[in-house]
Amino acid sequence: MIMKKPRPPSSTGILRKIGLPIHAIAHISIVSLIHSMWLRLSGRDYIITGECSMCGCCCQRINLKYRRGWIRRESQFHELIEQIPEYSRFSVLPEEQTGTYLNFSCSWYDPQYGCSDYDNRLDICRNYPGKSLPVQGGKLLPGCGYRFKEGIPFDRRLAKEMKKIQRK
Ligand code: SF4
Ligand code: SF4
Repeated sequence: MIMKKPRPPSSTGILRKIGLPIHAIAHISIVSLIHSMWLRLSGRDYIITGECSMCGCCCQRINLKYRRGWIRRESQFHELIEQIPEYSRFSVLPEEQTGTYLNFSCSWYDPQYGCSDYDNRLDICRNYPGKSLPVQGGKLLPGCGYRFKEGIPFDRRLAKEMKKIQRK
């Protein structure tokens, strides 16, 4: 039997299907977005492997999210602080201001002891690195102990096997 290959997505209708508003497209890498949609349509996804080696790199150079995109402009950062004052611990890395996304360092980071209040760190710290990083064209920092793989997530494999068992 010849299996038809699914076609790569090409319309904004797909954006709605995966829950991204049209305006989000302005904040992300189109190539990465299309690749991510293509992964989903083929039943795969990004899988995070590895573990944190506590190198502290992401505390000294991190991208921040505002609404559904990563921050590109300082004005977005100021709006974020107005909404969530806890983000005032971050400051823009000056040499990075011309990049696609702004990079930030955290004033809570101590080179000797790490996070000065680890129990009260933000969700973005707890969840780093998230799948939205590759979706939006971001990359892991050099030296980070995590890796992104592409494959069929365990829960999808499990659901498929359960369906097979139920059919028997
Ligand atoms: S709050 Fe702590 S874990 Fe989060 S970026 Fe700052 S130093 Fe790192
Ligand atoms: S860059 Fe990666 S390995 Fe280093 S502290 Fe952050 S999550 Fe952990």
